[in-house]
Amino acid sequence: MILANFLPREISVHRIAPALASAIALASSAPLFAADAPTAVATKAVALHCEHLFDSRGGRVLGAHTVVVREGKVADVVPGRAEIPDAESVDLAGRTCLPGWTDLHVHLGSQSSPQSYSEGFRLDEVDFAFRSVGYAEKTLLAGFTSVRDLGGEVAPHLRDAINQGLVRGPRIFAAGKSIATTGGHADPTNGYNSELSHLLGPPGPTEGVINSIDDARQAVRQRYKDGSDVIKITATGGVLSYAKSGDAPQFTVDEVKAIVDTAKDYGYKVAAHAHGTEGMKRAVLGGVTSIEHGTYMTDEVISLMKQKGTWYVPTIYAGRFVADKAKVDGYYPEVVRAKAARIGAQIQGTAAKAYKSGVKIAFGTDMGVGPHGDNAREFLYMVEAGMPAAYALQAATIRAAEVLGVSDQGVIEAGKRADIIALPGDPVAEIGNVLKVDFVMKDGAIYKRPAQNASASGSIVQ
Ligand SMILES: [Zn+2]
Repeated sequence: MILANFLPREISVHRIAPALASAIALASSAPLFAADAPTAVATKAVALHCEHLFDSRGGRVLGAHTVVVREGKVADVVPGRAEIPDAESVDLAGRTCLPGWTDLHVHLGSQSSPQSYSEGFRLDEVDFAFRSVGYAEKTLLAGFTSVRDLGGEVAPHLRDAINQGLVRGPRIFAAGKSIATTGGHADPTNGYNSELSHLLGPPGPTEGVINSIDDARQAVRQRYKDGSDVIKITATGGVLSYAKSGDAPQFTVDEVKAIVDTAKDYGYKVAAHAHGTEGMKRAVLGGVTSIEHGTYMTDEVISLMKQKGTWYVPTIYAGRFVADKAKVDGYYPEVVRAKAARIGAQIQGTAAKAYKSGVKIAFGTDMGVGPHGDNAREFLYMVEAGMPAAYALQAATIRAAEVLGVSDQGVIEAGKRADIIALPGDPVAEIGNVLKVDFVMKDGAIYKRPAQNASASGSIVQ
């Protein structure tokens, strides 16, 4: 959680819907959205002529294929170049087609900056809603056709607007407000002075703050009422919140279990933010689906995770970003700066160790900590941490779908959603190519195409 930690708690989800509506009204008159705005699901048949195809099941790059798309779904995948008479041909010469990527950890409602700590008090929800529209489009155009938004009240509303074709963005699996304990990483009143705290009163389960098993159940049911798709808990302290500890445990095992059990009633999976060892261990024992960040992951925690089938989403990007910014005077408040320098620098090493141990890893950045749209840089950091490029690409495709619990995305096969991206060259041979995505299709609708003169350069692949 970033900005939500600093937003006055009386801001309710009911104030966000009109805010987003105004954002949409303005956005639809801007040039960016005026021409060629696709509907959420395309009906036109398209034949994609890919020079290479990334097979996310096998983790390898195949030769030329034609991918036929009808009614928003993959209808056929044919080796070589096949002419499909009733379909629009899209020439992707020199390119590799991949399943659209999923970032399992973003916050589309915010983007951190030195101003973040005061903006929560100065700005209205409408301002954050306007910003989220731009963040969503940047994320989609970078090749991310799906995201799991792990904390923020804007996301469920943004999800609905995107699904209705009103604004352009990835498919969103939204947590809504994260669940914390008093003073914990997602307590929305952290850092308030006593006068303000007294005025607002202590936040409770409705605001995502729990202190008992009953509270835990109520908080999950409230997320259901608010339209969440997944539950997020902050199992330990965090870096960017206005609080001293980045790693203290913040729930009892029984509280985590109550959240996980109640979540199951609604078909929800639970993602746990965790830096410290003890809080991480309690979250795993409590049955969460994934550990996010995982900074001080010990061998004991790793073996527990392997035993329970818990996923690890490293978010190396966020670690690198905050460690970098901690070197800049005044970028973060001093209480945050110390945590950013210590915790941030550690995450990439943890990811390397976790990979070697064989724990299941999926892709996430914690974007919103850094600038939205830069998500693909995580692939470079994963490869630097010793993961093969193909493994990193699988983490953002087929394995991310597994974490979400969906079987209709993450692979390019007949019957699956037509979420397809393309980039010049071969990303397994040269991972840097992930930053060059120039074709994006989601549910069969095309959001980005190669420039005319670039489409003919068929000899880019080495
Ligand atoms: Zn986060």
